[in-house]
Amino acid sequence: MSDERRASNPSRRTLIRNASILTMDAEQGDLDRGDLLIEGDTIAAIGRRLDEPADEIVDAAGMILMPGMIDSHRHVWEAIDMGGLVKVRPAPYLPAYQQWKMRTIVSMTPEDHYLAELVGGLQAIDSGVTTVVDYAHGQISEAHTMAAARGLRDAGIGGWFAFQLGVAPSYKPGDTISLAAANRQRIARPTASHWATAERLRSELFHDPSAPLQLAVAPCGNNGTPLDEIRDEWSRIRGMGIQFMPQHIHKPEKPHPPGVMGHRGSGIEDLADAGLLGPDFQAVHANALTAAELALMREAGSMLSATTMAEFPYVLYAQKGAPIHAHARNAGVPAGIGVDVPVSLTSEYFEHVRSAYWTLYLDAGHPGIVADCTSSYVLDFATRLGAQSVRLGHRTGVLAAGKRADLVLLSTRRIGFGMAGSLAERVLTFAGTADVDSVWVAGTARKRHGRMIGVDWDDLKNALTEAQRRIARLAATIQFT
Ligand SMILES: [Zn+2]
Repeated sequence: MSDERRASNPSRRTLIRNASILTMDAEQGDLDRGDLLIEGDTIAAIGRRLDEPADEIVDAAGMILMPGMIDSHRHVWEAIDMGGLVKVRPAPYLPAYQQWKMRTIVSMTPEDHYLAELVGGLQAIDSGVTTVVDYAHGQISEAHTMAAARGLRDAGIGGWFAFQLGVAPSYKPGDTISLAAANRQRIARPTASHWATAERLRSELFHDPSAPLQLAVAPCGNNGTPLDEIRDEWSRIRGMGIQFMPQHIHKPEKPHPPGVMGHRGSGIEDLADAGLLGPDFQAVHANALTAAELALMREAGSMLSATTMAEFPYVLYAQKGAPIHAHARNAGVPAGIGVDVPVSLTSEYFEHVRSAYWTLYLDAGHPGIVADCTSSYVLDFATRLGAQSVRLGHRTGVLAAGKRADLVLLSTRRIGFGMAGSLAERVLTFAGTADVDSVWVAGTARKRHGRMIGVDWDDLKNALTEAQRRIARLAATIQFT
């Protein structure tokens, strides 16, 4: 599927009529029977009755129109092995996950990465996600990374391809290596080849600033890295004009020495003192952040992603704290929701949003949480606030004139779809992928009448099954000592 074939026509107009519109925009509110006009990649108008000429009219009577949802953190490449490591037993999960990752990334070809990102991106769209932060930490070479980025771009989704600097395994299938050495190589220091890959991504695939999918970089400097090294790395990333830097943040078990990130708390104060925090920084997971750390992030305009279902091993066993959505929101730090690990968890995005609702109750330290926790409050993390959490609040996340036309149209005909309550209550409680009738990303229809456009799932599934079997065979030949 070429970009050219799928690019939106700048003057094409689609008029969606008679929908129940959940705008997620406080000023606009919900519309009982409303119309929305798409022009090119933008929402041109929204209102009670729009008598505008259009190339296509969609009758949406009885349906719910809502913003395309935002996945603020997902390792899309892991779609290559969906179900390969399900998350039912959290205690051994974390070491099992790292071993699965270390075996799998050296057993995949560039073609496998293209397929994984294409399928992963299509799955996200199918479930109503139009913007994703793809935290790409599974690519071992420039060829693997370029193929992955092409796969995600060809899926037609918006958001960020966030290239992880520093992935550097030295071993391959058939080799024996110490687990400690392999672990260090999962994310080591960035080399000239990592920087060259980042430059090539920018110049070859992400040179158009108006495209829905943009290049981000996930820095490798983290807790345990000297702040001087982090300063050099981040200024080089920023010097490339990169606008978004997501980073996994976990509070260290023991404080690191002065001058090293993680000397205090989760490392945020160290970054702030070094003058490094900024509006391009997104802390991921980061459940142990204190009120003081959140205040520093708000001052800097930084953002946060916590991943609800995926946080459970941290919550229950690693004692890193419950998902931090409510605290972050109260502190004025935009927070989003993410699937995180497609190898382990469903890409049914509404399930993750509902999980945000349940996990908010785990955050016992948040005063007044039960009173705050309405359906709109929870959906906000997946839409308006979610867009802000990935630095795209100016472009997407709500239905309003001038925003990018990222839209989801839900059928409500299924027998289990509740008919009473507000639009937000009905969506949060009942909606699922089976109800996603249509999806537009930047004005281009990707799903209509419950089917993805131009996608042969059977073909893709066959290719995925072949890849899974081959990769598993190779991965099993690696010996960790
Ligand atoms: Zn992650």
